[in-house]
Amino acid sequence: MSDLTRRKFLSMTAGATTVSALGFPYISIAGDAKQKVVVIGGGSGGAIAAKYVAMADPTIEVTLIEQDKHYFTCFLSNEVLSGDRTLDSIKFGYDGLGKYGIKMVHDVATEIDPVKKTVKVGGGDTISYDRLIVSPGVAFKYDSIDGYDEKTAETITHAWKAGPQTATLRKQIEAMPDGGKVIIAAPPKPFRCPPGPYERASQIAMYLKREKPKSKVIILDSSQKFSKQGLFTKGWTELYGYGTDNSIIEWVSSDNGGKVIGLDAKGMKVVAGEMEDEHKADVINIIPPQQAGKVATANGLANDKGWCPVNQRTFESDLHKEIHVIGDACIAGKMPKSAYAANSQAKVCAAAVVAALQGKKMEEPSYVNTCYSIVGEDFGMSVAMVYKLNDKGQIVGIKGAGGLSPMDASKEDRKREILYAHSWFKNITHEMFN
Ligand SMILES: Cc1cc2nc3c(=O)[nH]c(=O)nc-3n(C[C@H](O)[C@H](O)[C@H](O)COP(=O)(O)OP(=O)(O)OC[C@H]3O[C@@H](n4cnc5c(N)ncnc54)[C@H](O)[C@@H]3O)c2cc1C
Repeated sequence: MSDLTRRKFLSMTAGATTVSALGFPYISIAGDAKQKVVVIGGGSGGAIAAKYVAMADPTIEVTLIEQDKHYFTCFLSNEVLSGDRTLDSIKFGYDGLGKYGIKMVHDVATEIDPVKKTVKVGGGDTISYDRLIVSPGVAFKYDSIDGYDEKTAETITHAWKAGPQTATLRKQIEAMPDGGKVIIAAPPKPFRCPPGPYERASQIAMYLKREKPKSKVIILDSSQKFSKQGLFTKGWTELYGYGTDNSIIEWVSSDNGGKVIGLDAKGMKVVAGEMEDEHKADVINIIPPQQAGKVATANGLANDKGWCPVNQRTFESDLHKEIHVIGDACIAGKMPKSAYAANSQAKVCAAAVVAALQGKKMEEPSYVNTCYSIVGEDFGMSVAMVYKLNDKGQIVGIKGAGGLSPMDASKEDRKREILYAHSWFKNITHEMFN
């Protein structure tokens, strides 16, 4: 557009048109009213989506609704359990997002009205949107374990949302006598962070090996196999005597009676398997079955399994137009429920939302994930994948564009993977909160 034509165009549209700082033409919907994007959930998906919408088109008014003043990263929270990291080091605030013009609302989003295009928050305010992005993470299905509920989880923790429960679990492990037993109940799939329960067992075992070598950590599993199983088993064998009578770690698969179905909190026992075997422990960590966060299930964004079906190109809900769901809550083809994946989905979703508001066609998306696990001292490993859309519109891994750390990696390489994990943590948290 020449300068003259641009001037004419601007005067014709009487101030309804402007040009974003990035040079994108932008047409507002009415008079000088700004287009509005509201994001629910300021975690791995939501903070990034808000930031990338605001950066791509500063004329869009972006509001981020987050119930908590601080975000504790689940990623690397297992290192708090071994004592290798403080809780403070995984705690972040939202002040840094102010410079992008993002409005923070610290409240609980309760009701979404997809017709009026509004979100109601616990404090009573109603916030309107042109596009809504929902990234609430997961909710816990406490009632699928007999004797377990949200209140009990304050002492028999899940610590699957990092924060106070992470600190409680760490204190319990520290207080346990040498020779004590920690039970971790791993949930049925799908769940947030597929390698997480096994990394958690590894981190606890690392602490026990140093401080309480007669103790054990037992994983009672609702599944028959698990993420990066070969590499975990190798690490456990090298570091914790896995497979011997003196192993610090034991893993009980579902077909060997591992599925936890009940809890006796007073008696410090879990009930597991078809035979309803009782297992007594000094510390119990129950990671319950999961579904999409409550705001998604309560507002008709989830299917009958509790997860949110979306168009995997734009993350727009299959159930409500102009509402997008990203992160753990959504069904994202072959991508796992991880912070790395949520970050990647948030960027694709932000591009889709900005393109839709600008009336443009979005570019072909590409997605990425890497999950690091720290198995013990000088033993890190990872799984990585680049994804694309297939011709059915589903997210699938690109053959040859990813893979696992090699089984025969050198000691140097295993050690280096811990540096990579820590470096990734610094980068992703910097990107989320600055
Ligand atoms: C022990 C553990 C280890 C992990 N390690 C890794 C790892 O190494 N690498 C990795 O990539 N991933 C890891 N993960 C997974 C990762 O933490 C999640 O997959 C990721 O945080 C999902 O992002 P999200 O945006 O969907 O949800 P979250 O990051 O949980 O964000 C959701 C946000 O929404 C807010 N919220 C929810 N409902 C409302 C509401 N109604 N109103 C307002 N706010 C609301 C919550 O307070 C929260 O801040 C790990 C998870 C666990 C439990």
